[in-house]
Amino acid sequence: MPSLFGMYGYEGFGGRNAEIGAAADAQRASTQARDAEQRVKALEESLAKTLLICEAMWEILRDHSGIDNEVLFEKLREIDLRDGVLDGKNQSKPTECPSCQRRLSNRHARCLYCGHTFAKSTFEL
Ligand SMILES: [Zn+2]
Repeated sequence: MPSLFGMYGYEGFGGRNAEIGAAADAQRASTQARDAEQRVKALEESLAKTLLICEAMWEILRDHSGIDNEVLFEKLREIDLRDGVLDGKNQSKPTECPSCQRRLSNRHARCLYCGHTFAKSTFEL
């Protein structure tokens, strides 16, 4: 009959069980790294398609409206500054819930504490 420690996965330091545990950890880490790599590749492909569509839309707009690059860059700068930082993106920082005043990541569409729904820009991640 295994000891209480053995039943819960602890077999002491060193020895065969430690080696098996380390090998399992290494296998799990390898699988997680491979999964992360595949997700990054999928995101890169998705981003490349999005950029291609943006480029096509911009060129159609430019060629059919007379709006030039200067107007585009001025608008990009204006939007970039909406989050208070000129950094090439418009993504808000952690925010305070207007209902319960707790701080939350801007990734959430609803407050995790009180359920308040946030009005979020379509263009935020
Ligand atoms: Zn809240």
